[in-house]
This record gives sequence, structure tokens and C-alpha cells, in this order.
Amino acid sequence: MLGGVVLALTLLLALPARAALPRAASVPGGVALVSLGPVAGTGGPPRAWLGEQPVLVTRRAGEWIAVVGLALDTPPGRHELLVQPVPAAAAAEPAVADAAAASGRAAFSVAAKEYPAQRITLKDSSKVDLSAADLARVEHEMAEIRRLKRHWRTADDIDLDFVVPADGRMTGRFGVRRFFNGEARSPHAGFDIAAARGSPVRANAHGIVLASGDYFFNGRTVFVDHGNGLLSMYCHLDRIDVQAGDVLAKGQRLGLVGASGRATGPHLHWGVVLNGALVDPQLFLSARGDRR
Ligand SMILES: [Zn+2]
Repeated sequence: MLGGVVLALTLLLALPARAALPRAASVPGGVALVSLGPVAGTGGPPRAWLGEQPVLVTRRAGEWIAVVGLALDTPPGRHELLVQPVPAAAAAEPAVADAAAASGRAAFSVAAKEYPAQRITLKDSSKVDLSAADLARVEHEMAEIRRLKRHWRTADDIDLDFVVPADGRMTGRFGVRRFFNGEARSPHAGFDIAAARGSPVRANAHGIVLASGDYFFNGRTVFVDHGNGLLSMYCHLDRIDVQAGDVLAKGQRLGLVGASGRATGPHLHWGVVLNGALVDPQLFLSARGDRR
């Protein structure tokens, strides 16, 4: 018992004095850091929503900061969060209905960003021009993925300082506007790391496996829930080594690099979701040498 208390205290003292935050980039596909005011007393964080989606709130020094994911289709201009300053109940899940009861607002602005274009030629045109059966499968999978991206689990041990989940060469930047065999497709909403088939894929931060599946475009994929609307997805895996509910430590292996789904060769496609929006994973990599 005492050992446990001492261990807990040691872990507490080992925590950094200031929580690492992602780099702010208030652009479509980026992350806005919005001050929600000073930390007062011992109360929990204020709760905030972007539209109906709850938003991650953390503290930096004596200030509450909303860490807001901005989808690639976010229109530039002024946006605002709904804010509920005092939590109604510390342990309650932030229900969508609460957004209507929020009493405050916090405004922030989003600047325009032009991402580069990339043209890709795929020999297997069946992954570009879909059959009716494949189209039905893709629509079903997209609905499932949309639902997973909106997942929320309240957590108070958020790690916003990621490690790169695979060793290899960065081959695909976030946000690139893609054309497959000349046809415009959705922009590249993740970060690609080329590595040999069978290379380990590791959790970029601790979390709980939310789901896994084998999808038409994304191939074998693992979703990890880091808490408070922050998730990672690891796509095109050759093998999945975890299942829903598994608790993962930062750096723990969850599968192997592959080329399943729509992939031109073995690589990891790593997506990061924040309040339902796919954002640039590089914003969460610190400058200590593992940024590529
Ligand atoms: Zn990719």
C-alpha cells in the first residue's frame, strides 16, 4: 500500500512542470490553441465545444487552453467555441446536449492555407473506378470511420507530445491535394512513413485500442483512443497485434507495416484525429530529433 503511494508520488513528481502542447497552426488541418482564462481554485477544466463536438482542454502554467482540431474543410475566418466555465459534475461525460447550456464563447480566427498538389498513377484502376459493390462497401466503412472519429472518452492523463510510430522515411505530408489517375480525390489527411513490410508500428502515445478493421482504402487499420477526443489511426498494416480494449503504453507495438488497402507500396499512413477532425500529426512531434 505504502509502496503504491510512494510510486504514485514519484510518478507525479516525474511529470513535466508544464504540459507539452502541439504547435499552434490555426489553419485548415491544423490545431488552434485558444485560451479559456486563468485556472481558478481547485475546480476542473472548463468544458468547450466546437459546434456539437467536445474539445480537449488542458492547462498550461496557470491557464486553461482549448486544443482545437481544425478539419481540412474549415472555412478561414472567425470561429468560436462554446464554453461552460464550471463543470456541472467532475466525472460526467460531456454530452452533446450540454453544448446548448454553455454560457460563454471564446473566439479564434483561422487563416487560409494552400497545400501542394500531387498526381498519383495507380495501375490497379479497380481502386480508383469503384464497382457498385465496392462503392457500397466504402460508404458503409466511411460511416463507421466517421463515427469512430467522433469518439470521446474523458481522461486526465493526456500525452500531447508524440513519438513517431514507425522508423522510416517520411514520404507523404499532411494536406497534399491528391489526384489519382487524373481524378481529384480527398486530400491526404495523414502522414506517411515508408518502411519495409513487417517493420513494427508503435503507439505514438499511450491509449486504449478503440477498434480495428480491414477497410477498402485504409487496409488493415488500428484506431487508438488517447483520450478527450484525441485519436490515432494506423493504416495499411500487414498485421494487427492488438484488439479493442487493449491498453497501450507509449511506444508499444500494435502491428506491422504493410501495403493493405489502397497503397502503392509498404508504408504506414498515420492519421491523428482531434475533436473529430483529421489534423497534421507533425504538430504533435517535438523538435527533439524525431520530426521528419
Ligand atoms: Zn497516407
